[in-house]
Amino acid sequence: QSRAAGRNVFRFFDPAMQALANQRSQLEAELRQAVARRQFIVYYQPQVTYEGDVVGAEALVRWQHPIRGIVSPTTFISLAEDMGLMDEIGRQVLHRICTDLENWQREGLARDLVVAINVSAQEFKVDNFVYRFREIMREHHVPSHSVKVELTESMMVDHIEDVITKMQALRSNEVSISLDDFGTGYSSLSYLGRFPIDQIKIDQTFVREMQNDAAMASIIRSIIMLGQSLNLSIIAEGVETEQQRDFLHAQGCLLYQGYWYSKPIPGEQFADLLNTPGRFR
Ligand code: C2E
Ligand code: MG
Ligand code: MG
Ligand code: MG
Repeated sequence: QSRAAGRNVFRFFDPAMQALANQRSQLEAELRQAVARRQFIVYYQPQVTYEGDVVGAEALVRWQHPIRGIVSPTTFISLAEDMGLMDEIGRQVLHRICTDLENWQREGLARDLVVAINVSAQEFKVDNFVYRFREIMREHHVPSHSVKVELTESMMVDHIEDVITKMQALRSNEVSISLDDFGTGYSSLSYLGRFPIDQIKIDQTFVREMQNDAAMASIIRSIIMLGQSLNLSIIAEGVETEQQRDFLHAQGCLLYQGYWYSKPIPGEQFADLLNTPGRFR
């Protein structure tokens, strides 16, 4: 074996690893193309009261791949972040959402509906994030109270002053803020009082386990009590059964999102749902 080959430590000797690296660079190339060709679409998942009224929806991005079909965000969001594409994808998604909202409101639908929009750390970090967000909404004549931003605890660890300033700017524009996946991130409870938020979203891992696990049930109870004492709205995600919904209701959680009601669905289907009041009663 030559000295040169021995030094070449970055060569792939493992065919499986080589295949993985190829797959990733293929996906990277396709993701770049997806941004250029605007292949992102938005699904909506209803947010429902105990009485069965749809009061909101979470907007969830999907990649409409020409060959693979509908690709889930879990397969491309972190890659998009690594590639620095998430900011642009977020803007395309916001345009889509606002286009839908504008159409629905023109048809007299969705007047009081609030659409929750996921914003990742990379998008929120951008200096003029709030300004651009507002401009896109204005372009589509979407009233700001129709929109809610979902942030995660992990975004509230660094650059706290900047984060708080942006949250305040959103809220002074009537855009409300929900804390997604609550309880799963690295956080201390004290930050809850510091950050200007409107809603806590109980993570689906708690909901999944609360019936078999007394500790999980206690955690949920505590989250709800904490939220209530801070005057925050509380919603649970990942509600898959009527029993889960009823248990949450008994603890004081009054808003629900999950497969029990509906999976995330395309905009046209969601509009049909809005046209059918009482569907969940
Ligand atoms: P998330 O914001 O916590 O969204 C909830 C996820 O749980 C969604 O997965 C939703 O389809 C799924 N889900 C809803 N109800 C149930 C249920 O009853 N049972 C189960 N097992 N799952 C349920 P999805 O659509 O694959 O999205 C995954 C994650 O990708 C989201 O988690 C969010 O962090 C991110 N994401 C989605 N859309 C966007 C977007 O437009 N922008 C950004 N930045 N992130 C997004
Ligand atoms: Mg979310
Ligand atoms: Mg969530
Ligand atoms: Mg989640």
